[in-house]
Amino acid sequence: MSKPLSILFVSSEVVPFAKTGGLADVSGALPQMIREMGHDIRIIMPKFAAVSDRRFKIHDIKRLTDMPIKVGEKSILGSVKSSFLTNIKTKVQVYFLANDELYNRADLYVDPKTKDGWPDNDERFIFFCRGVIETILRLGWKPDILHLNDWQTGLIAALLKTEYAKEPLFKNTKIIFTVHNAAYQGVFPKESFDKTGLPPSAFKMDGLEFHGQANFLKAGLMYSDVITTVSETYAKEVRTSEEFGFGLEGVFKKRAKHTVGLLNGMDTSIWHPATDTMIPKQYSHEDLSGKVENKKALCEHFKLPFNETIPVIGIVSRLVDQKGFDLIQEQIAGILGENLQLVILGTGEQRYEEFFVKTAKKHPKKLGVHIGFDENLAHLIEAGSDMFLMPSKYEPCGLNQMYSLQYGTLPIVRATGGLADTVVDLDEKPKSGNGFVFTQYSAAELLKTIKRSLAAFKNKTTWTAAMQRAMKSDFSWSSSANRYIELYKSLFKKK
Ligand code: ADP
Repeated sequence: MSKPLSILFVSSEVVPFAKTGGLADVSGALPQMIREMGHDIRIIMPKFAAVSDRRFKIHDIKRLTDMPIKVGEKSILGSVKSSFLTNIKTKVQVYFLANDELYNRADLYVDPKTKDGWPDNDERFIFFCRGVIETILRLGWKPDILHLNDWQTGLIAALLKTEYAKEPLFKNTKIIFTVHNAAYQGVFPKESFDKTGLPPSAFKMDGLEFHGQANFLKAGLMYSDVITTVSETYAKEVRTSEEFGFGLEGVFKKRAKHTVGLLNGMDTSIWHPATDTMIPKQYSHEDLSGKVENKKALCEHFKLPFNETIPVIGIVSRLVDQKGFDLIQEQIAGILGENLQLVILGTGEQRYEEFFVKTAKKHPKKLGVHIGFDENLAHLIEAGSDMFLMPSKYEPCGLNQMYSLQYGTLPIVRATGGLADTVVDLDEKPKSGNGFVFTQYSAAELLKTIKRSLAAFKNKTTWTAAMQRAMKSDFSWSSSANRYIELYKSLFKKK
C-alpha cells in the first residue's frame, strides 16, 4: 500500500503547547516527521491552560462548537479549536478539545496545592476520549490509523471496539496504542467505569477491570490492534515483573505477540549544539571549543566556582523515585566527596525538592539546585555539563540521555529500558563506548560508576574521542518515524 495514510495522533500533551515530560516531545516531533513523509497526520489534545490562544494563533472551528459529550449522566459541552505545528518543511493541523471548567487549570493532571491528581481526572479524560470520537464523526474525516498514547487516551480503543463497533466511518480504522510509561495507568473506582458509558461486559478481566477498579491504560492495551512501547528493552521488561509492569505485566505478556518496541527519536531542530539558540555558545563535534563557554555559564548560573578540570555532572529530571533519586540521596555524601560539581534541575516529590535544596545550602561550591521547570536551563545543563546522570529504576525510553549524547555530555546510566538501548559503557567497550553503565540498582554501584567516569575524564584524548563518537550518533526521528509507518501499513496487510 503506497497511498498516503490518514492518521489521527491522540495525545494529552504536545510540544510546544503543553508538556510535563517525554510524551510531549514525542507528540511534537513524530507527527511532523510523518507529515514530511507525505501522510495526512493530524493531532488532537485537550486545550489546557498553557495552550494560549494568542501565542499559538488558535482559531475556532464553527461546526465543532458546543458539542454535547456524554460523561455518565451529564452532557458536557466541548468545542474544538485548531492551530498548526509548523516547521520549515511542513505544517501539521492540531485540534484542541476545549472545556474551560475541565481543562483551564494550573496544571495538566495534578492539583499543585495537594500534589495529587485532580479529583475529577476520570471525567476529564472520559470527556476527552468521547470528545475525540465525536470530533472525528463530525469532521467526517476517516482516519486509517488512530494512534493513541498513554492512559489518557486508552478509553478510545475500548469505545471503538464496543459502542462504535458498527460505525461505518471506523470500519477500516486500526488502533495503535503507545505506552510511554506503564507506571501511570489512570486507575479509578468502579463508579468511574459507569461514567464511561461502556457496556458492562467491558468490566471484566479481558476488558479494563483491574482488581475491581477501572484501569484506562488497560483499556488501551486490551482493545488496540497493536501496542508499542518506546524502546525494545522496555517492551520486554514490562512483561517480566511488577517492578516494570506495575500490575499489568500479565496483560503485557498476554499481548506480547502484538507488542513492538520502537525507540523514540529526538527533535534535532530543538536539540542540537550547533544550532541551539538557547545556549551561550554553539559547538559541534568538529569544533568542541564552545562547550567550555557553556560550562562557564552553567557554573555562573549556579554560582559554582568554575574550573575546567573539575567535571560537572548535570541532571534534568522529574524528581521522582523512578529516576533513581533514592540512590542519589543515599549516596550524596559519597558523590559530593569526589572532585566534581553536581547541578540539578527538576521538580517533583517534595521530599526530594527539600532534600536537594537543603544539601545545596550546605555545599554551595559543589552542588547547584534549581527547583522548577525551565527549558533554557535544561539546554544549558546539556551543553555545559561534562557528564549527565540518569540512574533510573526503570526508563521506558528516556530522552535526556540522547540529548546528552548529542551535546557530547557523556551519560552515566543504569542499564534499563531505553537507557540500555542507547548507552554503551566506555570501560567495557573503549572503541564504541559513549557513556557509563551499571546494572544493579544500588547506591554503591552508582558511586562506583561515577568514580569510573571521573577516572576516564582525566584522559583527555580518549574522553574527547568518546564525546565526538557520542555526538555523531544518530537518534533523529527519521528512522523511528519510518518504522512507525511500516507498522501502520502492516496492520492492513494482515488478514
Ligand atoms: P520523562 O518523560 O520520564 O519525564 P524523558 O527523559 O523521556 O523523561 O523526558 C523528559 C523531558 O522533560 C526532557 O525533554 C527533559 O529535558 C524535560 N524536563 C524534565 N524536567 C525538566 C525541568 N525541570 N525543566 C525543563 N525540562 C525538563
